[in-house]
Order: sequence, then structure tokens, then C-alpha cells
Amino acid sequence: MSKSIQSEVQKRRTFAIISHPDAGKTTLTEKLLLYGGAIREAGSVKSRKSQRHAVSDWMEIEKQRGISVTSSVLQFNYKSHCINILDTPGHQDFSEDTYRTLMAADSAVMVVDSSKGVEDQTKKLFKVCKMRGIPIFTFINKLDREGRDPYELLEDIENNLGIRSYPMNWPIGSGKHFKGVYNRRSNQVELFDDGNHGQSKSTTLTGDLSDEKFSTLLGLGLHEKLQEDLELLDHAGDPYDHAKILSGELTPVFFGSALTNFGVEPFLNAFINMTPPPSPRSSNLGPVDPNSENFTGFIFKIQANMNPTHRDRIAFLRICSGKFEKGMQVTHVQENKKIRLAQPQQFMAQDRVVVEEAYPGDIIGIHDPGIFKIGDTLCADNSGTAYHDIPIFAPEHFAKVYTKNALKRKQFIKGITQLSEEGSIQVFRRPNIGVEELIIGVVGVLQFEVLEYRLKNEYGVDVIIETLPYRYVRWVKSDLNQNDKISMTMDTMLVEDASENPVLIFQNEWSIRQIEERNKFMKLEEISIRS
Ligand code: GDP
Repeated sequence: MSKSIQSEVQKRRTFAIISHPDAGKTTLTEKLLLYGGAIREAGSVKSRKSQRHAVSDWMEIEKQRGISVTSSVLQFNYKSHCINILDTPGHQDFSEDTYRTLMAADSAVMVVDSSKGVEDQTKKLFKVCKMRGIPIFTFINKLDREGRDPYELLEDIENNLGIRSYPMNWPIGSGKHFKGVYNRRSNQVELFDDGNHGQSKSTTLTGDLSDEKFSTLLGLGLHEKLQEDLELLDHAGDPYDHAKILSGELTPVFFGSALTNFGVEPFLNAFINMTPPPSPRSSNLGPVDPNSENFTGFIFKIQANMNPTHRDRIAFLRICSGKFEKGMQVTHVQENKKIRLAQPQQFMAQDRVVVEEAYPGDIIGIHDPGIFKIGDTLCADNSGTAYHDIPIFAPEHFAKVYTKNALKRKQFIKGITQLSEEGSIQVFRRPNIGVEELIIGVVGVLQFEVLEYRLKNEYGVDVIIETLPYRYVRWVKSDLNQNDKISMTMDTMLVEDASENPVLIFQNEWSIRQIEERNKFMKLEEISIRS
């Protein structure tokens, strides 16, 4: 076992930040980058994001930039650690990629708006983290504003997400009267300075909370309330349990304000110490130790170049074990072919750079002339190691898609196949209906526009997209032999996915329950494993 691989693995922290739009993910990411010295000015991540509004703008930007760097991964060094932040696109560009990115993360930071609590998109992304059993850290944001009661927020997290929580700090006052937080681990008060705008570290005051200096500082009312709150948390709250944090059963909760920079640095320091470095990942040959000499990794995202003069694609590879070196030869396991990784790229904060070497936890971008599929494994030796755990996530929007010109059918199918391999759309067919009809499922509705744009620009095919009222999909996991007739509801459709697995698509949750009720022999699953 190489010492250098081992020490590089220990340094790595690879995580995703999940949230509902507007909770403050961009602001927090930016503040983390500032601490790492990766950007000099707050606002640079933001300005890129705000440009990405209308679809047409987005296309234009993609064209100019080649690929969207900020929507992928950011690497920077902080203290002695090498940090990889995986972006999970939200807003209009929410897509299956957003979910899949979580498969490449070793932990997640969940940003919650203190005035809103757990919101829809957070719930969806959380589910994936929970399924993987990765540690989830919560940052309750916007404490500088009037928000919901902190107990209520914890209850919301526990009830809505089914995870226990351990507040790492506790807010003192709120809104206009927000004074700061009490850090339960270091037993100190961290004071909020409103006029400071996060320009410098916050003042801290350490000592026994019963000391008079605290009541002088906070005022008698807030001091007494804080003492009561802390007592209550100690007695009635969950105890700190590191093993439960690592298995994703307990989320450490940090209260702060990303915009004013309050609580960001203590959060980052605690997070870096608590979140694990890359750990063994399961494969067809059993768990693969990241410290192993054998380089392995899997592709979790494929991004097409929107510039028509550069039709290539970038495949994003998460390194799971061994050392990557530029120009190395690897086996593309699923195709059983040798390939050379000549000009791989890494994503350093704002720029793409050619990477000379990389380690487990890192993400590299590989030029893809059209040979990769989501979930493919690359491996240095001939062991045939393959990672099988990238699932297919449930689309939430469906449409029938036709080509306007029947003579272009071949290009149409080629385009559809390629886009489905990139993982931006899922293709379904209705079995036994005579005519071939394609039903396309997507996670984010923007993907239909991307589909239309790309089929026209890259394949010269004009399409008609006829949206369908379906919103839910379940993979049927039982042997459906000829005699097993599924008792359906009127508004449900039976289709097949690209691998010819039976799938039901529904218009509402009520129908899902009805069909489960009526067809006890069937097991329905929300996520499918790639075959
Ligand atoms: P995202 O959509 O989750 O990436 O959210 P952004 O980082 O873009 O933030 C959404 C809005 O909330 C922006 O107007 C931010 O300036 C604001 N915001 C973010 N963090 C805070 C905070 O700590 N306090 C306050 N008052 N506003 C914040």
C-alpha cells in the first residue's frame, strides 16, 4: 500500500451541498471558497449563476464557455485538506444529474432557510443521501433575519426527513435581536456583529455560562433563556454520537448566516474534522479500498459541449481508489477495451486545468468521443472491477416525442439514444401497441427544451413534444409472467424502460397506492438499478 496514496486519501473531503432554491447554497459555497482562498471576491459564483436564467441565455453561456464549470465541481485546499465540492444544480436546471451527483459525494451539507424549514427539493435530495447512508450536515441559514423557532426547525427536520438531529450550536435571540450562537462543543459564545458584514472573525467569549460576564453581555433575559435551552437540549435532546453521524442517522446542525459570514468558519472547521475521507466502495468484487494501488473510478455525469463546432462530451469520473496519472492506460470495464486518458481536466474553483495526477475523492473530466455511459467503470488493472451502484432516478415529467420529418427517423433515434446515454432523458416505450411511440421522461422540465434544442442543432431533427399528465414512475420488481395481469387504474400506463423492464407511470400518488393495494404480488420501486 503506497504511503502517498494513503496520505492523499486522508486529506480528501468530497461533498455535495443540497438545498431548495434560495436557501443560500450559492452564498455558502462562495464563502467556503473564500476561506479556501480559491476566490478573492464574494459574488463571483453568484454572478455566473444569475446569468443562467432563461434557457436561451443558458445555451448561449454554455456555448461561450464550452462547458459549465461551476455546475460541476470545485476543488480547493483548506488547512491541510483538499476539498471537492460537488454542485447540485437547482432552479430550472434541476435534473437527474442533480441526484446522480450525490452518488459521487462522501457526505452532504444540507442548507435550510431558517424562515422556511425543510422544503421540497431538499426532501428529494435528502432521500438519495439517506439511501446511500452518507453523513448529512445541516446548516440552518439566514439567522440574521427573523426565522422560525429553532426547536420547531429541528422538529421539522426530524419529522419531514426522518433523521435525528444534534445542534452543534444554539442561537441566542433572533432576527433584530440575534446576538450570536452558543457553541456546544467548545462551550463558547460566538457573537454576531451586524455591522461587520462578515469581514472578520466573530468575537468569542469562552467560560462557564453561569458567569456574570455572560449576563452582562447578553442581557439577563437572553442569558436565562440560553441557559434553559441548553439544559433542555442536554436532557431531552439526542446525545452526540459520532458513529450515528457517520452512518447518516444523526445530523449535526449548525445555525449561522452565510450572507453575513456568521458561523461559516466554525462550521467549516467542525465539518472538515467530522466528515470522513473517501471510504471503501462496494463493487462486483466486494469493497474496494481507496488506498489500493489499483486505480479505479466511475462515470457519474456526462456533459455535452453545447458549442456545435466542438461536439465532444466531457465524462465526469469520480476516482475511488489508487492514483491517477495523466496519460495512463486504463480498462473501460463495461466495453472491455483499453483506453488512454490523455488530457483529463480538473476543476479548480474557476478554471479548468489539465490534471497531472489525482486521488480518490477527486473528480476528473475526461474527453468523451461518445464511448462512455453513465455508470461505466475505468480500472487500471485487468480485474474487471465494476461499480454498480449508480441508480436510475424517477423522472417527474413525461412527454411523447415525435420527429416532424419521418425521413429523419434514423438521426432522431441516434440523438435520443445519445441523450439517454448521457443521462439527461429516459426513454420508455409502450409494449405491444403496434406503432412505435417514444415516451420521454425527465427529472427537470428544462430537459425537454434542451432535448428539442440539441436534436435540432446536433442532429438536424425537428421534433414535436407533447407533454403527458404523468408525474410518477415506479419500476415493477416482480416476475410478470403471462398470467399475472396487473389490475390498473384508468390514469396509469404500463411502459418499458430502455432495458425492457416493466414500468408503471402514474398521474398522482393516490393511483400508486391503489395499484399497490390491488396487486399485492407486485413490488414497486422508485429507483432502478442500472443494468
Ligand atoms: P441558492 O438558490 O440556494 O443558491 O441561494 P443563494 O445563495 O442564491 O441565496 C438566495 C438569496 O438569499 C440571495 O438573495 C442571498 O443574498 C440571500 N441569502 C443567502 N444567505 C443569506 C443569509 O445568511 N441571510 C440573509 N438575510 N440572506 C441570505
